[in-house]
This record gives sequence, C-alpha cells and structure tokens, in this order.
Amino acid sequence: MDYGETIERIYQQLLLEKNYGQVAGYIPELATVDSEKFGVCLIDRRNHCYSAGDWQEQFSIQSIIKVVTLSLAYQKLDAQLWQRVGVEPSGTPFNNLSRLEHDYGIPRNPFSNAGAIVVCDVLMELFSDPREVVITMLRTLAADEDIHFTRAIAESEKSEGYRNMALAYFMKSMGNIKHEVEDVLDFYFDVCSIAVNCEQLARIFMYLAKHGRSADDRHSYLSRGQAKRINAIMLTCGFYDEAGDFAFRVGLPGKSGVGGGIVAVMPGEFSLSVWSPRLNEKGNSYRGLRFLEHFTDATEQTIF
Ligand code: GLU
Repeated sequence: MDYGETIERIYQQLLLEKNYGQVAGYIPELATVDSEKFGVCLIDRRNHCYSAGDWQEQFSIQSIIKVVTLSLAYQKLDAQLWQRVGVEPSGTPFNNLSRLEHDYGIPRNPFSNAGAIVVCDVLMELFSDPREVVITMLRTLAADEDIHFTRAIAESEKSEGYRNMALAYFMKSMGNIKHEVEDVLDFYFDVCSIAVNCEQLARIFMYLAKHGRSADDRHSYLSRGQAKRINAIMLTCGFYDEAGDFAFRVGLPGKSGVGGGIVAVMPGEFSLSVWSPRLNEKGNSYRGLRFLEHFTDATEQTIF
C-alpha cells in the first residue's frame, strides 16, 4: 500500500482544524517547546518511509522509552520480570500514588511511572552501564547514531520530580527497589530525556511490528512470543487512563509520551509515529490521536 498520499491528506486536513490542549508544563524545560509543531512518519515492512511536516525535528521521547526499557528487561528475565511489576491496566493517571499502596509496592504495569522506575532498577541490576545499553539499542534499531540524552530536560524533570520520588521511596520501603532511590531516578529521568525525531522513532519501533526483529532485519531483540506480549501491554496500558479510548478510536498497540509523541504499531505491516506537543487532559497528544484515528479509519489497517 502507498501510505504517502493518505498521510499527506490527513496531515493537511488537521492543519486546518483548531488544535487543542496544553504543552506539558510540569517539566519546566518541556513547556518551552513550540506547541504547533506537527510531524508524522511511517515505516512499512519493506522499509519504505513516508513522512510529513516536522518529522525531522527531534523531541523528548518521555514515556515512550518505557517500551524499550521494558523490552530490555523482558529479553533477559522473561516471565520472572512479572514478579516485580504487573501487566494490568491501572485506570489511573501515570503518576498515581494510592493504587501503589493498595498493591503493596508492586506497580500495576510497566508503563505507569512506578512500573517504569522498577524496570530501571531491574536494568541497573542486569547491566553495568544501563544508559549505554539503552542508547545503543535505540541507535542500532534506528540505524542512526544521532540519538542522545538531553541533560537540560533530565535536570529540569529532576528539579520538580517530587511525585516520582514519592513513588520510588514508597516502593523502596516495600522492598521493590534494590538500588539507591536517587540513582534509579537519575537513570529514569535520563532515559525519559532522550531526543528522537519521528523517523527515528518509527524505525526504532519496527521491532514490535516485525515480531522482535529490527527494521533492517539485522538484529533480533525479542522472541515472537515476547513481542506479542509487549504489544498487548501497549494496547491495554499504553495511554495512561485513556488506553480504552485509544483502542476504541485507533485500534493499534501504541505508546504516548508527555513530549507529545505517539508511536503505534501494526504487527506485520508498519510502525507509525506522530509528534504534536499539545496534550489533552489525559496527557496524550491531542492532534496525534486525531491523526491516528483518521489514519486507521482511512486505511483500515487496525488489529480489530
Ligand atoms: N518523565 C515523565 C514523568 O515521569 C514521563 C511521563 C510521560 O511521558 O508520561 O513524569
């Protein structure tokens, strides 16, 4: 299928529509981003690339990195990982505290902040230099060395990261964080700060469209069964407490981040990324969601 024309048509249509929502303000450095940026990129199974708008400009990956860190931990520990973090949707915002207390410090799923912080703690146990492992995986999957941590974003988040500190200290008190809380959070803020553009993001996520293998087919990161399960967690937990709405409107596994990025995957077919920094009240890109809904309606490429 030639996706280029459909992408361009929906892109132009959305540019004419009013854009809603707010740029994430709770991380001061993210609040400085131009709210009207809008980029799209799709990589298909033949490795063809279709793009529109600001697709070459880098933005903060934020929570989308949680899929990559989870994949690294899952690749090593397989089912053992689920002793530390669950796979159920939480139905609560990404930084919710009360649920964690109720669950004795075992986060409901790896895409809540608590869950992602536990996964960071696991990676610190598994690798002597986990930052290097994460950035190398991204660069290898994207076949592009120009992917880096953004110090200013990590420091900005750290300066206001009280909620994540509360989550991490609570889990430490329950025995589910093994390293020093400060070290785990530094690692967590660092991986959230990584900058990617739409093309890099779409290329990276091809491993979930290709059942564990990279877009260029040269590297294998997950078994088929593991890729199936990560896609299932994206479908059920990838959009905070809006995961049901995303499945209903878009019908693909995906993950969003408060930097305004969303990536969605059609297993066996493509990986599609959208970036638009204005977030709806649930923390997901307003225009990104609209784009993806129109796209799957127009192409009928959905898992349902
Ligand atoms: N670094 C952000 C936080 O911990 C990630 C949130 C997100 O993108 O959902 O609050």
